[in-house]
Amino acid sequence: MRPLLQSVQHTANCISRSNSTSFIGLGRMGYQMAYNLFSKQYVQADGSGSPGFVVCDAVADSARSFCSEFSQQYPGAHISIATSPEEATIASSRIITMLPSSPQVKSVYSESIIPTLRKLHMESSEYTFCIDSTTLDVVIAREVASNVERTGARIIDAPVSGGVTGAKAGTLSFLVGGTEEDFEAAKPILALMGQRIIHCGPSGAGLGAKICNNLVLGVEQVVVAEAMLLGRSLGLDPAILAAVINSSTGGCWASSVNNPVPFALPGKSPPCERDYEGGFATSLMLKDMGLASDVARQRDSPLPLGEAAKEIYAHIIQQRPDLAQKDFSSVYQYLKGEATV
Ligand code: NAD
Repeated sequence: MRPLLQSVQHTANCISRSNSTSFIGLGRMGYQMAYNLFSKQYVQADGSGSPGFVVCDAVADSARSFCSEFSQQYPGAHISIATSPEEATIASSRIITMLPSSPQVKSVYSESIIPTLRKLHMESSEYTFCIDSTTLDVVIAREVASNVERTGARIIDAPVSGGVTGAKAGTLSFLVGGTEEDFEAAKPILALMGQRIIHCGPSGAGLGAKICNNLVLGVEQVVVAEAMLLGRSLGLDPAILAAVINSSTGGCWASSVNNPVPFALPGKSPPCERDYEGGFATSLMLKDMGLASDVARQRDSPLPLGEAAKEIYAHIIQQRPDLAQKDFSSVYQYLKGEATV
């Protein structure tokens, strides 16, 4: 049988594994993140020792359209498609994953990346560095990380904040969990996709911080919708009410940036002014509230408001499936519908 490392050169257009980066998961976030990362790496290399880029997605068309768009903009770049996470692992010593949630991370790592790393590291002492930017369960992430590390490879959790707009602009915040050494090693890579890179602690700490932040956000967006509706019923002008809240103690991102009422924020253009398109999907917020709820139960930590907000997002998806992929500030539309029933 041919050693795994011999097939690497073929996969990545004769680029060595140590000079190649694989990106697995080209969804709404991953596509933009990979594009920023690869284009900046390509420009940095400036023709010398041109790096290899490998993309992989369960939907083959996503990888194909990424490759075709990238090759058109950077005709000299060495970019190829891996048809499986195994192939992506063989091709590159840097692997970034941006998958939907826990089941996908568990299966991609446990069934593909980890067994491949085990074989690769048996054949050579070559270094592999994994960055998982998915938002997933902390316990599963720690389990995956310890299995990756047992192969001799390194891994950090680096979930992001900043949404699709931040992914596209390269202004994401990365919340990192891992050793100090791995954090330092990841920084130059993450800096090509984001602006703020925060070391939150050991493995799983980045995810813990991300889940706590989204718990606050999920609750705040509901209460801002409630307040804006109550103000409406009292005959208040939404722009005046939003201005009062945002200059008073109730001000928060959910009211000052993601206000759910069209034209409540003059000069800004929140998702509600685009029929709640282009933001953070209600289904993803429900997933993140579920992650907070699971971890709170395991730790016996009280979550009365978090649980109530989670139920509201669950009801939205059951009763208004049209809002599942809309921005989660569409909770306002759901509550408005409830009020008029
Ligand atoms: P997405 O569903 O758009 O993308 C996930 C991608 O992973 C898809 O392209 C899918 O085909 C691919 N995929 C699934 N299983 C796979 C497998 N086995 N092998 C290879 N590819 C596979 O999700 P997204 O919006 O890009 O979010 C990704 C992660 O980032 C989620 O954990 C989400 O919670 C988090 N996040 C999203 C946002 C946002 O605004 N969308 C913001 C912050 C964090």
